[in-house]
Amino acid sequence: MAWTRFGKKKDMPGGLWIKCESCGAMLFRKEFEQKHRVCGTCGYHFTLPARDRIALTADPGTFEEMWKDLTARDVLEFNDRVPYAEKLVSTKAKTGESDAMVTGTAQVKGIPCALGVMNFQFLGGSMGMVVGEKIALLCEMATERKLPVVLFACSGGARMHEGAVSLMQMAKTCGALQRLHQAGVASISVMTHPTTGGVTASFASVCDMLIAEPGALIGFAGPRVIATTIKKELPKGFQRSEFLLEKGQIDRIVARSAMRDELARLLAYATGRDAVAAFKPVPVAAELEAVAVPAVEPPAEKPRKKAKVRKAEEA
Ligand SMILES: [Zn+2]
Repeated sequence: MAWTRFGKKKDMPGGLWIKCESCGAMLFRKEFEQKHRVCGTCGYHFTLPARDRIALTADPGTFEEMWKDLTARDVLEFNDRVPYAEKLVSTKAKTGESDAMVTGTAQVKGIPCALGVMNFQFLGGSMGMVVGEKIALLCEMATERKLPVVLFACSGGARMHEGAVSLMQMAKTCGALQRLHQAGVASISVMTHPTTGGVTASFASVCDMLIAEPGALIGFAGPRVIATTIKKELPKGFQRSEFLLEKGQIDRIVARSAMRDELARLLAYATGRDAVAAFKPVPVAAELEAVAVPAVEPPAEKPRKKAKVRKAEEA
């Protein structure tokens, strides 16, 4: 099976050092966390957990969570290696979250908004009945209260354990956003690494403003699947933010350190406030205390075994 190749974790928790997935640099974990999980060497944006994202985006103490206890049901009695019902229980215990989406109201530099953030740690940020329901509820609440909606996507796509029910969430979230749009309320989608499958193909792509973090993988089917299907070499940077900006799929790329300022500017613009006053950049680094990197060298890298070529795939 294809997923068995992803067995080894690149991001080992608890270690003092972490290796950049993009440039291979060894990063001091404390400094890395304080840079909000962005590589100090190459600027690669690692996936950010939902709660960290909220802390980085919302004004301190303004986030009020809604529909926290919505949980999924195993309607299909789905069973792969572990029954879905059991997987839900263990994932909830491991992450402390009820599902892959955190929703509520918040203020961004004083501007009230409805905020929805996906959590990749919860079953790959997959969209099932709870994610769809929370987005729909968030949009309905925002329509009623005339609050602009900000959605952070980070997902492997639809949740296969929920079959057709998960696919229905595509139409449901798009419908909710359409009604929001008809009521004259703005929506902003922020696509972060990775945003794929049914999430890209639904709510993440239909908001009024489409923002992406640098270097994020954004697409429907993965590049390997596409290359195999069309039997052609894919262009350089295919399905990455920069490529999609060039092709007109997204409106702009915003670095994590500038995201809050940019969102405040767009929210101000969308709600008839003074966009220039709302923008006033606040560099993320300035808010942080400098972290002393220990004098010790990062651990020497062990020579890696050559990746096994999968003969079956070549055939
Ligand atoms: Zn790097």
